[in-house]
Amino acid sequence: MDNIDPTKVLYIAGAGRSGSTLLGTILGSIHQFCDIGEVHYLLDRGIQLNQLCACQVPLQNCDFWSHVIGNHPTTFDEQTISHLLDLRNSVSRFRHIPLHALNCSMKFQQRTKTYGEFLGQLYSIIRKSTGATVIIDSSKRVHGHVLAQIPNVKLYTLHLVRDSRASAYSWTRQKAYEPTAKQLSYMPTISTHSSSVHWMLDNLSAELLKSKTAHYFFLRYEDFVMNPQYEIKRILTFIEEEPDQLPFVSERDVRLAITHSVSGNPSRFHDGDVHIKEDEVWKIKLSQKDRAIVTFLTWPLLKRYGYI
Ligand SMILES: [Zn+2]
Repeated sequence: MDNIDPTKVLYIAGAGRSGSTLLGTILGSIHQFCDIGEVHYLLDRGIQLNQLCACQVPLQNCDFWSHVIGNHPTTFDEQTISHLLDLRNSVSRFRHIPLHALNCSMKFQQRTKTYGEFLGQLYSIIRKSTGATVIIDSSKRVHGHVLAQIPNVKLYTLHLVRDSRASAYSWTRQKAYEPTAKQLSYMPTISTHSSSVHWMLDNLSAELLKSKTAHYFFLRYEDFVMNPQYEIKRILTFIEEEPDQLPFVSERDVRLAITHSVSGNPSRFHDGDVHIKEDEVWKIKLSQKDRAIVTFLTWPLLKRYGYI
């Protein structure tokens, strides 16, 4: 482990389909900020399946990740990857939230520490090779509880929340995962029941981090898309960074850089000028029945976050 200042990691917490890919890409377009996407999936979707990096090159052929993997002390052979995936799956699932909260199992703590060391080394190599002052990890879900225990990581948790009904609608839409791939693959779809449960657990997991870590910031996606530049400035204040320039060409138009993010929404493949606006299609397309189901299953947090 490197004996230098801890690496600053901005972790986007919360539920899937909440706009974290766009937020991560905007932040990753700031000079000396590095967006690496959903690192939780680096080993399986990234290395094993060799899915596209956001630079549109298969991950194992991408110069950025080739360098990181090549310099990591881990040998990324099949057996080691399988072992690391077992380790990840034994500490990073919804059912592990109580164990992270209670911190009472030595065996569980040891597994978290070992997987955390793997991640800590990864961030350290990325920081060294890019000179980045901030690494953005948009893994969401339970991943942040592992990050919170890595000694050489200074963790900033950005809890991003989107209306559960918008998120549920997004989970029902069939969307091409890798638009440029020869064989089209699609992003997973799940029922409104499942997405409601995921939404509750993901947000509760993020809230739990609030009590465990020193740096926590809450942001509603809807507020972000209304005033993106303003909210990015608030995030910069939160992470104690003052970059010379922001990637905005106007309040709601942003110039996205090519990043090397892993997994996530296919919008990560977009670079260049993008106009930011709220996607409100769900208000028309989500059936009354599904809307009622999602509202019923998620109402305590919908109310808490000011959506109802
Ligand atoms: Zn790449």
